[in-house]
Amino acid sequence: MSNKYQDRIDAFMESMKAKGAHEEEFLQAVEEVAETIIPFIAENPKYEEHNILERIVEPERTIIFRVPWTDDEGKARVNRGYRVEFNSAIGPYKGGLRFHPSVNLSILKFLGFEQIFKNSLTTLPMGGGKGGSDFDPKGKSDNEVMRFCQSFMTELSKHIGPNTDVPAGDIGVGGREIGYMFGQYKRIRNEFTGVLTGKGQNWGGSLIRPEATGYGAIYFVQNMLERIGDNIRGKSVIISGSGNVAQFAIEKILQLGGKVLSVSDSSGYVFAPEGIHSEHLDYIKELKNVKRGRISELGDAYPDMKFFEGERSWNVPTSADIAVPCATQNELNGEDAKKLVEKGVKIVGEGANMPSTPEAIEVFEQNKILFAPGKAANAGGVATSGLEMSQNSLRLSWSREEVDDRLKTIMADIHDQCVKFGRDEHGHVDYIKGANLAGFVKVADAMIDQGIV
Ligand code: NDP
Repeated sequence: MSNKYQDRIDAFMESMKAKGAHEEEFLQAVEEVAETIIPFIAENPKYEEHNILERIVEPERTIIFRVPWTDDEGKARVNRGYRVEFNSAIGPYKGGLRFHPSVNLSILKFLGFEQIFKNSLTTLPMGGGKGGSDFDPKGKSDNEVMRFCQSFMTELSKHIGPNTDVPAGDIGVGGREIGYMFGQYKRIRNEFTGVLTGKGQNWGGSLIRPEATGYGAIYFVQNMLERIGDNIRGKSVIISGSGNVAQFAIEKILQLGGKVLSVSDSSGYVFAPEGIHSEHLDYIKELKNVKRGRISELGDAYPDMKFFEGERSWNVPTSADIAVPCATQNELNGEDAKKLVEKGVKIVGEGANMPSTPEAIEVFEQNKILFAPGKAANAGGVATSGLEMSQNSLRLSWSREEVDDRLKTIMADIHDQCVKFGRDEHGHVDYIKGANLAGFVKVADAMIDQGIV
């Protein structure tokens, strides 16, 4: 960040706070972008002339709706549903749906805003959006989840479509939920289209989509290592989370010869001194995707592992080379970052969206840790969703190898763009700056071309 522009950054953030001081996560995401974009805009006045920064932080449309549903006791329940259609300059709105009790407008605006830059980086024609609900699928029966998803889609179906807005999964929304929502959309609209991604393999889904975010994050980390003449083989990796992104990040690390030291969920983390092997990974997938159990059960099942209740993976009692946070926003703070530096971590690749707080990022920057922000490192998921949309339009499906090759190429392209825009005169790469500038330019130029809309 250039101090020369600090006054302008502060003034811009003051104007944002005046509009919504309580939207903390959204302001955090905007500030991270403003710190790199404002100096860039100052040197490229056409973006200032068109007031692009002020326009890009305002969602094109925000939809908020009631989601009534009936529980297994026959009682009427209600949740709040959202869709933030943030920016459609380079393609239909695209971004996941999150079902978690913490969901609110601030969280969805931060996720939708990040999605604009991420989707632009993939080089595919996708705008940015995000949605979800404060509904908690945990502890609900399949029938309750189905009734909720049907009610949610009854309203959402009025606002989405294959050329308008194409949602996907996120926290709390996996294959089961996408299936129920797709079924309801098809019933209401009487059309079988690629309106959601992350679909089942037999009804329009893409091979590799479930794996894509985790695999892509590790391809990105591998690209970072290769640039400095190294690779993942033999490296020890701290992972947080145990959901979709974490599971496939672990799978790819194992395939590339790395050692995984930890997994976690919101109740604590499991330390695996000898590493998590493929047998353990199968156990985690069954536990989380089928039984929907807690990660402590992994510690109970394998005596050489230990569960630490209420703690995060950053406390592992050993040295490590790489950290890949794959759970949720702001799960890694400044103190955690210092612990990682002390353990010898040299690379951090964000599998989750905005898992590192600004204080953590500052610690990484001060210690010259190579740090890849989520909008670059976890873009493989939405990129493969883009590939799912292409296959749906063409009415064909590509092989596993073909999709995986395309994913690898896209992650390498994103890495190259980050290096191009983020490298300083000493060869150090600021991946935040690189991702923000590369993502911004394409969207901003499209906004200028399309006029004031
Ligand atoms: P899942 O729901 O499959 O898994 C989420 C994991 O994170 C679980 O282990 C969950 O634990 C943990 N977690 C969630 N909320 C919290 C919390 N408040 N505190 C501690 N742990 C928490 O989600 P995904 O794996 O799909 O998503 C993980 C992250 O990756 C999110 O930030 C998401 O936005 C991001 N992402 C996901 C993509 C995808 O394709 N799925 C694409 C790009 C980014 P518990 O079970 O206890 O809640």
